[in-house]
Amino acid sequence: MAPGQPATRAGAAPPAAEAAMRRALEAARRAALAGEPPIGACLVRDGEVLAVASNCVVSELDITAHAEMTLIRDACRRGRTLSLAGCELVVTVEPCPMCLAASHYAGIDRVIFGATLEDLHALTGGELLAGPRGSQPGGPEVEGGLLRAESLALLRAWAGGGRG
Ligand SMILES: [Zn+2]
Repeated sequence: MAPGQPATRAGAAPPAAEAAMRRALEAARRAALAGEPPIGACLVRDGEVLAVASNCVVSELDITAHAEMTLIRDACRRGRTLSLAGCELVVTVEPCPMCLAASHYAGIDRVIFGATLEDLHALTGGELLAGPRGSQPGGPEVEGGLLRAESLALLRAWAGGGRG
């Protein structure tokens, strides 16, 4: 998407964004089966999927190994670049402040998420709701609500499955 183009509301998300969200949801489902938090992310450029990742904090013993962080690290290393300009990050849950900051510094154009941090917080009680949220000057456009119900179903199953 060209810089400065107005944000599309989630209800009118282009088919490519929905297809990317379905890839992210698949990754989230695989994460849940592996005992990880069920959150997945997909990086798209010009409608093409560049990378898919999921939260892997448990297996990596790395509290920063959120789906978005893993995706950004992998994409930058693979492309031997610090810039993901021109990319859209599609993620099943709204990025936390750490991941929003990483998206900003990577120069990602746009972030599209499913469930909100409030949705996750209602289940875990542990989300950081303070700090920057949504679109920030000079950062990615942020919009939410894409396939939120599917993401929420995964989160609820995880939170109700004896976790914690
Ligand atoms: Zn995060």
